[in-house]
Amino acid sequence: MSFNDIVGQERAIKILTKSLKENKTSSSYIFVGNEGTGKKLTAIEFTKAVNCLNPSKNSEACEDCQSCNEISKQYSPDLKIIEPIKNSIKIEQIREMRKEIGLKPFKNKKKVYIIDKAEKMTLEASNCLLKTIEEPPYYAIIILICSKIDPILPTIVSRCQIVNFGLISSGKIKEFLLDNNDNLEKEKAEIISKLAQGSIGSALKLLLDKEYFIKREEVLDYLSAISPGKYSEDIFTKVEKTASEIERIEEMLEIIKLWYRDILIIKNTGDQKYIANCDKLERIYEKSQIYSQEILIDILDYLEKVEEYLMKNVNTRLILERLYIKMVGVEYCLK
Ligand SMILES: [Zn+2]
Repeated sequence: MSFNDIVGQERAIKILTKSLKENKTSSSYIFVGNEGTGKKLTAIEFTKAVNCLNPSKNSEACEDCQSCNEISKQYSPDLKIIEPIKNSIKIEQIREMRKEIGLKPFKNKKKVYIIDKAEKMTLEASNCLLKTIEEPPYYAIIILICSKIDPILPTIVSRCQIVNFGLISSGKIKEFLLDNNDNLEKEKAEIISKLAQGSIGSALKLLLDKEYFIKREEVLDYLSAISPGKYSEDIFTKVEKTASEIERIEEMLEIIKLWYRDILIIKNTGDQKYIANCDKLERIYEKSQIYSQEILIDILDYLEKVEEYLMKNVNTRLILERLYIKMVGVEYCLK
């Protein structure tokens, strides 16, 4: 593994390698970008590069020295990764880090702390971290990793160098999948690369998840059968049945979201380039003819809110009923 193996993040890596070459690394960073775009891998590569005993002229890690080896395997005493425990990063975790960070590196130049999913820090944990970020020891580097920057305390953000990790193009994801999986069919790689929505992490998950594609077919068949203005009497019985069978509701909602988003894109632009469900083009074109833009936007707006409702533990059956009503456009047909 080296910087070169990280797919589609040339800009982020350029910023980091430049600071290494000029010997101007910051004491704290925020790596921000969607899940599965290579933030943590980059943080580990960066840790290797700052500590490598035999770096190249371009300040890249040698991949061979003891320091590189230990950091690659994540058992270096000078690399600590802090992650949420039960969905949050607690003050005790940051207190422990503060205690440790006062001790000089065990054998490396720099001691690196990676705080993964930093948006999950409690307010107390954030305030505690702020004290370290204000006055970091000269040998320490703190890297916060997050998918959104808004939940991070502005006083922390203002003291960190921000490195953005963009979405990875489906072309690059496809290439990566084919390069690393000899038996993968091109067509399958194409579908996965589009469904992954810019995330290599999602693409790798989809590659291994056979159940996903079975579920997806089911959900898309169900959605294809729905048309605006046409609804049967037994819709609520159907929804009830679906609600009781659902195990992976977030995943199902994501499939629904991509479906209606695709229909809206085709309706508005006719451009296939950004279609996630690239194997269902015909059906998407068909639906784009019969759904009005108004209904599509309404459905997508509602799907955005659903995430929030689920966090607040709103009844799943109610959410799906309301969603179904939106999908058949009842509210518009009654106007
Ligand atoms: Zn090395």
